Amino acid sequence: MTEDCIFCKIINGDFGTEFVYENKYAVVFKDINPKAPIHLLVVPRVHTESLNELEDKNLMGELLQTVKDVTKKIGLKSYKTLINTGKEAGQEVFHLHIHILGN
Ligand code: AMP
Ligand code: ZN
Repeated sequence: MTEDCIFCKIINGDFGTEFVYENKYAVVFKDINPKAPIHLLVVPRVHTESLNELEDKNLMGELLQTVKDVTKKIGLKSYKTLINTGKEAGQEVFHLHIHILGN
């Protein structure tokens, strides 16, 4: 847990955010400002600022497996995934996450 990181606080349960899905590696919750009818965020439990700082190769596999598992759970067969890396690319929250966007 990193202080002042909103996603660490959500993972810690500070805001009572409902998790659509969770496992050992990640939690999944709805984006507060959805850009598609279904907009979920897959957020690793361990704080890493962005893809540029990620050293654990295995974690990215687990995050993509989590994308598969949560979309299967909610019956979403067609979707886009997105990772913003760096401010100029639109990253606003500096805790690595994968967007899932679907209709
Ligand atoms: P990014 O621009 O890739 O860093 O994405 C950050 C995303 O987090 C944005 O789509 C925000 O709408 C979303 N977001 C920020 N704060 C919260 C929150 N408290 N709960 C859910 N989603 C959030
Ligand atoms: Zn964090």
